[in-house]
Order: sequence, then structure tokens, then C-alpha cells
Amino acid sequence: MKKEKRLITSALTYVNNIPHVGHIVGCHLPADIFARYCRSFGYDTTFVGGSDMHGTPSVVTAQEVGVPVEELTEKLHLVHKKIYEKLGISYDIYSNTHTKTHEKITSEFFLELYKNGFISEGEIEMYYCEKDKMFLPDRFVVGTCPNCGYTEANGDQCEKCDSIFSLSELKDAHCKICGEKAVLKKSKHIFLILSKGVGELDKWIESKKDIWRPHVYSEAKKWVQEGLKDRCISRDIKWGFPVPLKGYEDKVFYVWFDAPIGYISITRELSEQKYEDLWLKKGSKIYNFVGKDNIQFHTVFFPTMLLENKKYNLAYNMVGLNFLNYEGKKFSKSKKIGVFCNSLLDEKSDIDIDTFRAYLTTIIPENRDTDYKWEDYKNNTNSELVGKFGNLFNRTLNMVKNYFNGENDFELTKDIVLNDLDKDILSAITTMPERISQAYEKAELREAYKLIMNFATLGNGYIESSAPWALMKQEKFEEAKKVLFFALNICASLCIVASPIIPNKVKSLWQDQLGLSDDPTSNDFWENASRLNIKKGHKIKEINPIFERVDDEKLQRFRATLSTPFDIKEYIDSTR
Ligand SMILES: [Zn+2]
Ligand SMILES: [Zn+2]
Repeated sequence: MKKEKRLITSALTYVNNIPHVGHIVGCHLPADIFARYCRSFGYDTTFVGGSDMHGTPSVVTAQEVGVPVEELTEKLHLVHKKIYEKLGISYDIYSNTHTKTHEKITSEFFLELYKNGFISEGEIEMYYCEKDKMFLPDRFVVGTCPNCGYTEANGDQCEKCDSIFSLSELKDAHCKICGEKAVLKKSKHIFLILSKGVGELDKWIESKKDIWRPHVYSEAKKWVQEGLKDRCISRDIKWGFPVPLKGYEDKVFYVWFDAPIGYISITRELSEQKYEDLWLKKGSKIYNFVGKDNIQFHTVFFPTMLLENKKYNLAYNMVGLNFLNYEGKKFSKSKKIGVFCNSLLDEKSDIDIDTFRAYLTTIIPENRDTDYKWEDYKNNTNSELVGKFGNLFNRTLNMVKNYFNGENDFELTKDIVLNDLDKDILSAITTMPERISQAYEKAELREAYKLIMNFATLGNGYIESSAPWALMKQEKFEEAKKVLFFALNICASLCIVASPIIPNKVKSLWQDQLGLSDDPTSNDFWENASRLNIKKGHKIKEINPIFERVDDEKLQRFRATLSTPFDIKEYIDSTR
């Protein structure tokens, strides 16, 4: 086991809804593939995630559905958890931000900032409902957009024309809960002084220039250069953790203040030792996987909190992702445009999870926005997984079975004369895993997948060129055995290097078909990938096609099942 300790975090997910596939490729899946690679490579790996329970979106949804917000978030949290399990997201812990541990850490975190002089107090104007006797968060104020006249604009922004304006510009403002006219009123709040830490923050961002992806670095730089305004970190709602300060008893922390602290408290929930090793002691490496809309919070807002608090380690790498579209359009629940993950839990859903993961890997929005296309899922499954990867296993195993009774009777000794084809393939077995590992290491997962498929193609090419069937006819049995020996060993290597992406399939291939012991998905197994794992006298087991082809009929069925959005109200009602 390598000594380096790595913490991998996936952005905490809002539980006012259920994830669609854009959320999966936008952080959970890349974080999972990276975590699986780190375990396989032998790093002391911890992978944490959780539901972000607080915030006004959940309050609004609870109001709409007509249930207490605790009940809504607790139930949806469990649905989230099940979806990630179904997709094989290998969290060491998937918790949430509404726990005692989290409340304690958040409160202490804040008091430290307060003590260090990074908190200021001030007043802001907010809409107030005289009837409900409460200040209204932006999402609870509805009015007419001053720009386009859309009558359902919320607070200070219009989702129809994407414009942002000041609260006082919103026309005909009224309370979303009761419909009464809303009035602007002053309210006392606390602010995080971001400007004080900007020098140190900038130095930290600069130190990440060659580690972060260019779009992440430039976005962070842009925010710093534009100047950091103090940020209000309290809210006039009931849902969240109370601000532990005199005069603020009726306010809670802004969700973006407590949510990122969740990484710390969820790690602590997992184990006190891990919390100390990863967050307090020097030398650990923290990797944050975050969606496009979270980059600012993770490169500016949260690091400033950490720098000002002075207690915890900052992230080593920030893997910022972009957005995913669906068949050229934006995901839309109301228009049923997209792939909604709740349907993966449906009994009718029979899509193979590994082929799904493999396709999703090809569209991880690493450097730009990408597009989900069902036709591409079909093509990736049929031509890459069945045609290249599966084909190599299938033909190799079948020839070993038919020609040599399922046994490898070859041993690579010094007196064996290798031709150029053999030398090339032996060199591929010893060097390809290293190249693939470099891609994983940089979280370039699409590249890793491409290299894996290239590796399989090299194997197929080797068989084509060496033509063991012709060697058998010519009764060059030793030659044929040698070719199949190398082919079997490529298969074994492939199981290990592909294990972060298609873990279920490779485990079954390794154990049930290649007939090897151990588990190619286990920790610290990676170095076996560049070895010759198939020894003389080894017997293979059963041969079965490992990937199923997807035809149009099946594709239509997947599409129909998985594009059914989640009806929160119906679900909550069914569970009461
Ligand atoms: Zn508008
Ligand atoms: Zn009202």
C-alpha cells in the first residue's frame, strides 16, 4: 500500500429533487472512477459524498408537496443513496448535512471565523410577507420581470430571459406561499469578509495553475480579479442550522456556508482517524469533483473559509466538470427531456449498469459541455464493448477451449524465440497499464477509456496477424499456444485496467471465465496489470458472452423507461 492518503469528494447533492444523468456524469461517476482507480493503484483512499439537506429549494419543494421539509429531505436523501448504489458509486460513506456532527462542526467553524475577525454584521433589504410574518427568500418572492415581463420571475432573477436585477426592480412582488403583496424591509445579517483573505487565496490559486484544468483556474482567477465582495451567510428561514450569535437566534446559516463543511463532518462521521489524517495532518491529498455551477464555491468561497479558519487542509485538486445536454437539448423534467435516475430503480429497468457506466464515461464533460445520445449508447455498447473488448475475450477463450481443452500449456522462458508481433504485444502488456494509469491519475477518464479500447484493439490485431487457426492447420501447436498465451494475458490485464469503469463485468470475466483467483477490483491490485497473470497449467472456466448487443427495440425500451421523471408528490404520498 502506498503511503499517500487521498480524500475524494463528490459535490454534495441538493435533495429537492432526484438526479438526472447530467448530475451523474457531472460529478458522481468521475469521482467514483477516480476513487476506484486510487484504491486499485494502492493509495490509502477515502471517498465521501452526501446530500445537501438545507437551503430554500428544499423548503420550496416541501411547501409545494405539502410535507414538512425534514420529511421531504430525509426521504429523498434515501432515494439518492439507493440510486448511487445502483450505479455502483462506491462511496465509503454517503451521509447528509442534517446531522448532529455536522451542526457541531459548522457552529465551531463559524465561531472560529468570528473570533478571527472574518465576520461582519450589516443590514440588507428583503421582501417580507405581513401575513406570514416572515422574510421571504428569493425563491419565495414572485413578480414580473422588469426586462421581459415574465410574470413568474423569482426575487432578483428571471429564468425566462436570464436577466438579473435588483430586488426593488421586480414588479408586483408577492409572497409565493399566500399570494399577498410582499414589501421590502430591512433585515440584520452576518457576512463573511472575503476581501481580507484575498491575497492568500490568490497565492493558493496560483499554486494550482498546473494542477487544475485551465477552465477551472481561469474561472477562479476571474472571480478574484473582479474583486471579492463580502458574502451574506445567514438566511431568514427556519430550515438549517441556527447562527450561534446573540441577536441572530431566528436566522440560519446560508446553505452554501454549511454545505462544503459537510465534506469535513461526513469524513469525521466515517472515522475520527480519517478525519485527523485527511483534514488536520499535512500530507493528505484532497480531490474535489464538482459540477460547473459549483466551481466558484469550491475555488473561492470555501477555500477562503478554510484559509480564514486556519484549521483544515485545502484541496489539492479541483476537478471541475461541465454540463451535459440530452440529445442536443437541455434536461427538462417538465418536458420529460432526459434520463432520470429514479427510473433505474424501477423493476422494469433492465439496462446493464456497466455498459451504461462505460457509455457515460465517454461523455464525461471534462473540458466542454457534452451531449447524451441514445444512439451513441447503442454504438458504444455494440462496437466498443461487444465488438472490441468482449470479442477479444470471446475468441481467445473459445480457441483455448477448442484447441487446447481449456488449458494454457505455455510458459515464457528464455529459450522461446519471439517474433516481432510477440515482442510488440509483450511490450504492450508491460507499458499500456502505465499509460492508462497516467490518464486516470489526471482524472482524464475519457482518455483512460479510449486507451483501454486501444489496448483491446491491439489484442485483436495481434490475434488477426498471428492467426492461430492457421497455425493449428499447419500443426504449429507450440506457436498457437504462444499466441493464445499472450492473448489470455492481455485479457487479464484488461480486467484490471478497466476495473474502475466496468467493475462488475471485469470481476466476472476474471473469476468466472478466465478462472483466476483474487479479485481484479480489489485494493492495491494495479501492479498485476503489467504482469503475465496466466501461468502454465492454468485452466479457464465457462465461456459466456459478457456484453449483450443493443438492438433498436431494446434501445426504445430503455429510452421509454429511463425518461420518466420522478414525481415527488406521488412518491411522498406513496410513502406516508
Ligand atoms: Zn425576464
Ligand atoms: Zn405570505
